[in-house]
Amino acid sequence: MRKKPLLHGVLPFLLCVILLLPFAAIPAFAAPGGETLTVGVPAERCPIFYRDPETGEITGIGVDLMLSAAEGAGYQLRFQVIGEQSLKDALDNPAYDLLMPFGSAIGSTAGKASVVSDNLIQTPFTLVTEGRRSLPPMDELRVGMLKSLAAGAETVKQMFPGMEIMLYDTMPECVGALRSGKVDALLHNSYVWSYVLQKPSYKDLEMQPTAMFSMGFRVGTQDTPEGRAIIERLNDGIASLKDTKRQAIILDHTSRRLYQYDFSDYVYQYGLIVLLALLLIAALAIIAVQKIRALRAEHEKKLQQLMDHDALTGALSMNGFRKRAEELLRRHPDAPYYLSYNNIRDFKFINDSLGREAGDALLRFWAAKSMENLSDEEAIGRIDADHFAILRHITTEDRMREDEINIFQPVENFFIDQGKEYRVQISTGIYVLTAKDFRKIDVDHMLDLARVAEKRIRGKRRENLGFYNPEQWQNGKRIAEIVNYLPAAIKSGDIQVWYQPQVDYERGEITGAEALCRWDHTKLGWLYPFDFISTLEEAGLIFDLDCFVWDRACRDLQRWNAEGEHRVVSVNVSRDDIQEERNIPGHFQKLIKTYNLTPDQLHIEITETAFAESPELLISTTQKLRSMGFQVEMDDFGSGYSSLHMLKEVPVDRIKLDLHFLTASGDPEKSRIIVSCIIQMINQLGMRMIAEGVEVVEQADFLKSKGCSQMQGYYFHKPMPVQDYERMLRETAKTEGGTSQTEGTRC
Ligand code: C2E
Ligand code: MG
Ligand code: MG
Repeated sequence: MRKKPLLHGVLPFLLCVILLLPFAAIPAFAAPGGETLTVGVPAERCPIFYRDPETGEITGIGVDLMLSAAEGAGYQLRFQVIGEQSLKDALDNPAYDLLMPFGSAIGSTAGKASVVSDNLIQTPFTLVTEGRRSLPPMDELRVGMLKSLAAGAETVKQMFPGMEIMLYDTMPECVGALRSGKVDALLHNSYVWSYVLQKPSYKDLEMQPTAMFSMGFRVGTQDTPEGRAIIERLNDGIASLKDTKRQAIILDHTSRRLYQYDFSDYVYQYGLIVLLALLLIAALAIIAVQKIRALRAEHEKKLQQLMDHDALTGALSMNGFRKRAEELLRRHPDAPYYLSYNNIRDFKFINDSLGREAGDALLRFWAAKSMENLSDEEAIGRIDADHFAILRHITTEDRMREDEINIFQPVENFFIDQGKEYRVQISTGIYVLTAKDFRKIDVDHMLDLARVAEKRIRGKRRENLGFYNPEQWQNGKRIAEIVNYLPAAIKSGDIQVWYQPQVDYERGEITGAEALCRWDHTKLGWLYPFDFISTLEEAGLIFDLDCFVWDRACRDLQRWNAEGEHRVVSVNVSRDDIQEERNIPGHFQKLIKTYNLTPDQLHIEITETAFAESPELLISTTQKLRSMGFQVEMDDFGSGYSSLHMLKEVPVDRIKLDLHFLTASGDPEKSRIIVSCIIQMINQLGMRMIAEGVEVVEQADFLKSKGCSQMQGYYFHKPMPVQDYERMLRETAKTEGGTSQTEGTRC
């Protein structure tokens, strides 16, 4: 409201005083009786113009100076923040009677002229740089300023025409330009700097010690008669302003700690401490969570332990036994196991006559004795009352006897040892696990079968052991005898290497021999490979046996070499031996080095079915062996299902034709046709061959007539101990030149 009629006379004056009385508490007012003028001022230009943090009212150096001047001029003032983009825009808005701050008179955006007051104060303008640094001459300086100071920028430009001035919207943008080197310095009035540089993150900025220039600080309005009149009156007020008053106002506002920390300031100031504190809190939280988890896990474990164990005996509970048994069977899918269901006969009678305590003590004793004797791979569980389930390895008769002595007898004598005339009787039902049980593990079902076996003998006082499947038990025990005795048998010489000669039927010569193992078992008598090879393969022990046989054969070859006899021996390699990590070629190479042999002295027999089962590894092993100079033979050709295909794929030196498989059954004439075709085919493929299982002269003659004269079989020789083989060779050598060697070596 620029157009206000000037009030004159006493009455209006009094009226005005009365009307304004309720507002007397508002600070920004001039002498009583004056008119109220609206002054537009910029916001946030602390400490020139800003809102008092406590009252929220507009205050500052500019405001107080203006108030003092208005007081002298008899005006009352109302300050309002300029909503327009610039002072030039605001000049066109009739809502303001006056506007601040003006350096000098400027035109409005609409092209209207302005009128300005006398200088309220001379404001010093200072440059701010990053650190204290020397600056280029003023005319070459690049200076950053706030856009709101555009009017001031024009004045500066007039003063230093060569200066490059860049305007930015905000102070952070100005500082960013300074730090990135886009400008050499920032320019603002010193009072504002005294406020802005309180920001913690600006502590690297330095105000230049001397002001660059100073600018007038005036109030202005549109150049109209009313405007001029106001300005004129104000000039009187300005003239009456004392310098001391001016200084006091400046000091008052510049000495206040006006800068308010925002979030970014706190982050800057205390960021590291806050970060460390947060990390500490996070670490503590993680530790606490882990601790809670550990406690919970321990608690759950204890609970599980309680659930899985029988409180009275310490053995597993039914639940615990089931879990443990499943785990063991999964972990040892090849181990021979049995599951027994054990029952104390007349347990009710024990409880009734000797007391419940005595019954409990017996159960505890039995569990303790059993646990003492079980390995980690076995388990005992109390199923209910006086029934125990035991998962045990099938072992030798000796172990059974040991159990009898260590577990069953002490339990049976439990009361007798205490001087009571009562002998405990235990009936046990046994179920021997089969391969099927390992494929589909069902502990409850196996236990049911053991229970059935126990029930069968429960009424028979003389029997205390019943088997659900006795054949498996015998078989299992036999397997145990083989597996458990192998290491001792290798050491003691119970396992021997026999030789079966191989002959050239046409030339009547012994060309080599196959090493075959024999086992003189302490308990089971003489065992042949078919009795134990597959068992050892299943138990993963065949490699131990084969290493022993290969070593023996090489040792014999070394001895013969020393005697001047360069002989050849064929050894068998189980398909299970050929595993990447065993490095069979390397193993054989080491052997010939150890025994000083040449690789051609060893023929390595690999059964045909092995090639069909895992061709890649077998083929690469064969290639390696051959590249080292060993002869590789495909054993039992004709026994597998993919013989013909194999012939094409596998790079062996010799095919070992198994006559037994080819002629054992069916029409003999058809067998002959098949054999002669196979021989013809192998010959045409350019491969060598030997026929094994030759039992009668007709077979030998037939093979010879078809072009296969290398043979091995009972017709010539059966496998024999090494001493017999050596003797036979010596005798054959003596008869050399006499009768046909082949006939002479016939068994
Ligand atoms: P194979 O390698 O095919 O050995 C030939 C088998 O045929 C030998 O049985 C031999 O005694 C038998 N045989 C030889 N001539 C005749 C004959 O005219 N008629 C009949 N019916 N049989 C004859 P053996 O010694 O019982 O060996 C059986 C199999 O056991 C061998 O077959 C071989 O696969 C395996 N074997 C033997 N010793 C070892 C060994 O040290 N390690 C490995 N991994 N396997 C072996
Ligand atoms: Mg063989
Ligand atoms: Mg064979």
